[in-house]
Order: sequence, then structure tokens, then C-alpha cells
Amino acid sequence: MHTVESALEAVLAECRRYPAVEVPLAAANGRVLDEEVVADLDMPPFDKALVDGYAVRAGDLTGDGPWTLEVVDEIDAGSTPRGAVGAGRAALVMTGAPLPEGADAVVMLEESARDGAVVRLTGSVRSGQNRLEQGREYRRGEVLLRPGEVLNAPSVGLLAATGHPTVRVVDRPLVGVVATGDELVDPAAIPGPGQIRNSNGAMLTALIGGLWNGAVALPPLPDRQAVLRESFGRLLGAEGGPGSFRPDVLVVSGGVSAGRRDLVPAALEAAGVRPVLHKVKVKPGKPLWYGVGPERGERPPVLVFGLPGNPVSGIVSVLLFVAPALAALEGRRAGPARVERVRLAAGYAHRGPRATYHPARRVEGEPGRVETLAWAGSADLRTVALADGFAVFPAGDRDYGAGDEVEFLPLPSTP
Ligand code: AMP
Ligand code: MG
Repeated sequence: MHTVESALEAVLAECRRYPAVEVPLAAANGRVLDEEVVADLDMPPFDKALVDGYAVRAGDLTGDGPWTLEVVDEIDAGSTPRGAVGAGRAALVMTGAPLPEGADAVVMLEESARDGAVVRLTGSVRSGQNRLEQGREYRRGEVLLRPGEVLNAPSVGLLAATGHPTVRVVDRPLVGVVATGDELVDPAAIPGPGQIRNSNGAMLTALIGGLWNGAVALPPLPDRQAVLRESFGRLLGAEGGPGSFRPDVLVVSGGVSAGRRDLVPAALEAAGVRPVLHKVKVKPGKPLWYGVGPERGERPPVLVFGLPGNPVSGIVSVLLFVAPALAALEGRRAGPARVERVRLAAGYAHRGPRATYHPARRVEGEPGRVETLAWAGSADLRTVALADGFAVFPAGDRDYGAGDEVEFLPLPSTP
């Protein structure tokens, strides 16, 4: 049986990066850049005033002030100087305005008193003070952003500054989430005898959508081989599922364990999905199934994750396997989920041959310390709702003491 590490390796081995798409700047934040961004202009494009004040020749303000200069120009941001500033002269400039030739510094407005055509300056300046020289930020032709960088607000600003109303980024796979199970009813329904509400559909969509911008919840499916096969076939085929939706990554919840109604793997295989792995030595999440759909030309094949139906198993499986796969498909860092090193607030007895991901909470006021929560296992979602993440206990029997260091897999924080 796979370990978490070998299972992730098998998952990532099937992940090919998606092709590029052009998106408008408004949709660029958080996307992975797929082009080199080169400055088409110097920035700033001219020597510019960094404060409101008087552009002067610093050499005019030597000795003891105040100094009285003749005002020869008034320049707002967006306008251009009429001419040069000669000796004994100054120009009123607003922040962002181009400095006139001759002027090499700006005296702040707060240190000036205007009287008609002259201004009395009480503060002196060094040459270059309150001035941003042309090209100081970057020069035309400089590479500012490189392929593979994840765009954030400042880089979106740079794209705008360099004349990119659109930008080429790596396409983002669409994720479909479908819950399976005869016992499932809609959250709006009153469950009948033996029934439960479908919490995984909404939950997995929220979890994946939080990492990702495109998780779509699909209508749940019953535990019936013919229906599953037909539905998977349509979802993975040319016509697509409901609303012609064609996922790039299909996340199926339930029906992958060893029970007699666990029909998902066979139905997926019948729909053309090649199985890659089934079962991982992890608690919760052991029954995980993973497969790859048929080739589809330029777009990489659909990846299919069959998650165990117990809600906490689903969460852990997403964090350990689905999220890293989605990152790899989008050309982000391909590797294991990020964990932190933390210390346990209390002892913990680990038993068994599977790595355990135990819901845990950060101890308030004690950075780097977590407490494991009393937890009823993979069906106990309520405890996970109180947790900040999962303390990680590797396979094998071991008694941990308070203060022992372990890894901590954080739940993604909501924006
Ligand atoms: P399964 O993996 O289908 O054997 O399901 C394992 C357990 O998870 C069963 O107790 C199911 O009732 C429960 N379960 C399955 N699907 C869901 C779901 N969508 N929402 C909540 N619980 C579920
Ligand atoms: Mg089931």
C-alpha cells in the first residue's frame, strides 16, 4: 500500500502543466504568469517631484536661510514645464509633476511662504532631495516579471504600468465535485430513516474553491453501477455533464472503499479512467482512489480523485493530494502540502501503521504550540470545524510528550 509520500509522487507524476491563456488584468491576481514582462518605458519616465513644493537648484540654498527665489512656473501632475529653472529661480510643482530642467530638488510646500511672484523658503535641500530620477525604478528593456511567478497586487500594478491590459497566464483547470451515496439527501431536505444530508458536496467545493477559483458542485449520484458509469462517461466525454460542464479535474466523494455499494472505481474504469492508485497508509483517508482519463489533445487528460465519503477523510485527501495536484497543473510549486513545525501542548499516544492527521488547534497566546482535540474519527466533522489544522503523527507506535515537535498541516485560511 502507498505511503502518503509515494502516493503523492504517483499523483504528481500524472500532472502536466496546463496551456496558457490570455486574461484581462482584472482577472490576473493569483494567476501564474506565462510570459516575460519587459519594461517598455523608463519608470519614472521623467525626473519627478515626490512632494508638493518648489523645484529649486539646491546650490541656490546655501548658507543661512531663508532664501527668496523668483517663481517662474507652476507645474501640476500631468502637465509639462514651460522651460528651465535658472539660478535664483523656482517652480511650484505638485507631487508627480515632471521637474523642470535645471531644478535638482524640491523644497516642501510646508517650508515655504509665497508672496506673489516670489517665494520665501525656510528649509534647505540637498541635491536630489524629493526627486525621483528618470529610470530610478526601472529602465526600458529591463525584465520585471518572469514566467512562473504568481501574480499579486503589486505585480498587477507593474503589468498595468508596462502597458499590459491583458496578460498570458497558465490556464486553470476546472474542478467538478460530485458526491455519491444512496443515503444522501439535499441540505434542504429532512433526512428520512437511514439518510444523511450531503455535506461533502458543499464542503469540498468550498475547500477546493478556497484554493482555487473553479470548483463546481455537481448533482449527487446514487450507488448504482449503471447510473455511475453513464454519468461519469458523460462528464468525461465530449458532451459533458449537467449544463455541458466538462471538468478538468473530477473529485468524486464516496463509494471507493471495500463495501458492496462502493462502485465508483469500477464505474470510473468503465468510463475510460485508468486507475493509478487505490488506498494510502493514512488516517483518515485510507480508501483514496486516483486515476487518469484518456488523452484529449492539447489539454492534459482529466484527473479523477475518488475520495472516501467520510467528511474528514475528504478534507485530508484534498489537502494532501488534490491541492498539490492542482498547484502542479497550474505550474506552481509541485510538492507536498506545506506543513509547519509545532510543539504539542499535551502528550499523544500514536498507534498503528498509518500516518495520522489529527485535528488540532493553535494554543492562543502561545505561537507554535497546538493542542490535539478530542476527536471521534473520520466522520467527526464538527471537531474539525473547531480546529486550525491537523497534527501529523508518522506511522508507527510512539508516545509523544508535551513539548514534542510535530508537523502541523494547517487548514487553509479563508480570505
Ligand atoms: P463511503 O466512502 O461511501 O463508504 O462513505 C463513508 C461514510 O461517509 C458513510 O458513513 C457515508 O454515509 C458518509 N458519507 C458519504 N458521502 C457523504 C457526503 N456526501 N456527505 C456526508 N457524509 C457522507
Ligand atoms: Mg457510500
